[in-house]
Amino acid sequence: MSRYIATRAIRGANALVGEAEVMLKQALDEHGADTPVSFPNTAYFLPVIFGMTGREIENLGELPEVLDHARSLLHPTPSAKHWTPYLGETLDSGMATLLAAETIEAIRYIYGLQPELLPGFELAGGTSFTSPDMNGGADGSSNGHLNGAIDDIQLRSWGIQLVDGRMPGFAAIVGCAKSNAAAVQIVRELQRRNILTFLSGNVNGRSIIHQLLEEGVELGYDTYTVPFGTDTISAIYALGFATRSALTFGGMKGGQAKEILHYNKDRVFAFVLALGEVDDLKYAAAAGAINFGFPVIADTVIPQILPTGVTTYEHVVSLPWHEIDGGDDLEKAERLVQKCIEVRGVKVQVADVPVPVPYGSAFEGEVVRKADMRVEFGGKNSRCFEYLRMGKLDEVVDGKIEVVGPDFSAVDPQGSMDMGIVVEVAGRQMEQDFEPVLERQIHYFVNGASGIQHIGQRDITWIRVSEKAAEVGFDLESFGKILHARLHSDFGAIVDKVAITIYTDPEQVDQRLDEARAAYDFRNKRLEDLTDTAVDVFYSCTLCQSFAPNAPNHVCIVSPERLGLCGAYNWLDCKASFNINPTGPNQPIKLGRVSDLETGYWEGTNDYAKVGSHGVVEEVAMYSIMENPMTACGCFECIVMLIPEANGVMVVSREDTSMTPAGMTFSTLAGIAGGGIQTPGVMGVGKYYLASPKFISADGGFKRIVWMSSVLKDTMSEEFKIVAEREGDLELIDRIADERSVSSVDELLAWMEAHEHPALTMDAIF
Ligand code: SF4
Ligand code: ZN
Repeated sequence: MSRYIATRAIRGANALVGEAEVMLKQALDEHGADTPVSFPNTAYFLPVIFGMTGREIENLGELPEVLDHARSLLHPTPSAKHWTPYLGETLDSGMATLLAAETIEAIRYIYGLQPELLPGFELAGGTSFTSPDMNGGADGSSNGHLNGAIDDIQLRSWGIQLVDGRMPGFAAIVGCAKSNAAAVQIVRELQRRNILTFLSGNVNGRSIIHQLLEEGVELGYDTYTVPFGTDTISAIYALGFATRSALTFGGMKGGQAKEILHYNKDRVFAFVLALGEVDDLKYAAAAGAINFGFPVIADTVIPQILPTGVTTYEHVVSLPWHEIDGGDDLEKAERLVQKCIEVRGVKVQVADVPVPVPYGSAFEGEVVRKADMRVEFGGKNSRCFEYLRMGKLDEVVDGKIEVVGPDFSAVDPQGSMDMGIVVEVAGRQMEQDFEPVLERQIHYFVNGASGIQHIGQRDITWIRVSEKAAEVGFDLESFGKILHARLHSDFGAIVDKVAITIYTDPEQVDQRLDEARAAYDFRNKRLEDLTDTAVDVFYSCTLCQSFAPNAPNHVCIVSPERLGLCGAYNWLDCKASFNINPTGPNQPIKLGRVSDLETGYWEGTNDYAKVGSHGVVEEVAMYSIMENPMTACGCFECIVMLIPEANGVMVVSREDTSMTPAGMTFSTLAGIAGGGIQTPGVMGVGKYYLASPKFISADGGFKRIVWMSSVLKDTMSEEFKIVAEREGDLELIDRIADERSVSSVDELLAWMEAHEHPALTMDAIF
């Protein structure tokens, strides 16, 4: 291994630890040891420090020992005489660098110095961050502020995608690309593969963040590109993200450094892409990343480090820009990203979708503003619907895409028009029950096209096509091409043939819409009839076991009236998933003899719970929080928790960061609810389960809810209206307290008295 790299990394680490010590001393002098330190909206303290050393840092006074530890990892720079070709010293320096960098960022937060654009740099005309969280942080808003730490809600919402492989990993880009065009192309290539992109660092004051903003690239959570900061130190947030992934999804504990590093090497397909000149600090930070098994690829001439086992393949690869084949910067950028993927062994799954715009899940969250719009379907001024139905195998013509009516070239710019998308699928394994499961995918499939925005479903679909997309040739037929390609690639096991008809002729739209509505009604009815007692199998979901090696015992049991706790899998989804992948994570559970219908015990579910949990859980009650409640991994949308004094339960949403009457916030509660063990009185659930007639029905049902995050009241108001009717009390939801007025048990009890909450007069819950 190269002495040159060791020398520079060790030198960079020494300098940074020294810098951190000076800053810390000053901060202690000016603010005192008791000053709290944390990153906003994140659990796990300062995550790299917590993960690597187990220290739960909460205030400044606890940081000197971290830096002492960092200093103990430092080595003198190697001389020619005392040089062993051994990676250990470089890795130690890397770790010291990470500890120092996180310390510095934590101190910066105290001074209100979140990562910012460099002074004097103006955002490109009209450019703004699209994600509301982009300005997050202690003081709220200033346009120059960059992201800083990724908040927990975002980490969670990416969780399932990271687990099921839709999001293969992340790229930490540090520095500045050869040209703006190259910068944009690199990010596009990564987006196309659904690889999260973290941006930081600069070369002589210029950062890839500047380059992308100048080119009008939208940065933010929605587009999978997160600008951490324009210096190298802010790259620490990428490793904080990696550490938190291992803690959250891998079920690891703080201080399990070896396990966390291995988890990342084996499961998080991340790499560092160093653009432009590499200085001492970048070498030191790169050495830190190598600890996690993340290789470093540079577009300049630097010595390479070939495989020795810390990363899966090469550790450091140099692919100098001028040596990359390819005519222009765009081609070179493409090759560079290719190289990164090879070196890391990233598993990328992309369907080849033959449309003239870039395509990939990274574009799913894209917003098309009115001003950038070519045409819209649905919304205020026109009608739009989508309908997928099963056809006969010998009648559906695979690949047939027909447009009935004029294309949108006939409409004025920014105008609107009617549209109906009718998809016919056929296949030997296809069942009518899968129609809604596949139809719901249309939203994700269409949204994957850059410049297309899709909202809603069924007859409230609302689609916008941007001017840019239309300019390069995106037309009505393109919708058909997307759906044909994706249905085959994602659902090949149940779908053999796909044909699409796009209707824009108003009379035809009318007619087809009637047919579609009849089908929606039929399905609604079917869903209503689809109760737990109407079926003889439930489904297991063990998807989360695959990424939680330390909490491998959680299974969701999914019934028609109780969906998976992540909210992503209901009974029909599981049924379809089993048909697509018969040896996959969703297996049918034959119910067999019922032993207690009220609490929700069957022979089959109990037997399965034992097997699925590897003996950890003996029995599971489908309808109770008090007796053998279902376990949880970490993905729940809400936490339900007993408030004994109130004779009821509270429901906290993942999106709610405020204090609950239990004296804990969601993040703290999450630690109690997760982990795959049964804790009577605490349960993680999917939010639609709240509206189910089987919601803790053994304990009194919905009327037990005494407190609920207001975001749930808002987003579920339609469903709760129906619940209130069902429970025979139209005021029921207004009787439930929320964080806007109640944040302690005393306040809760007063509220319940004042609003005559039914739990006051119900039987004791235990
Ligand atoms: Fe994980 Fe349960 Fe969701 Fe399956 S249903 S992905 S096990 S949380
Ligand atoms: Zn989970």
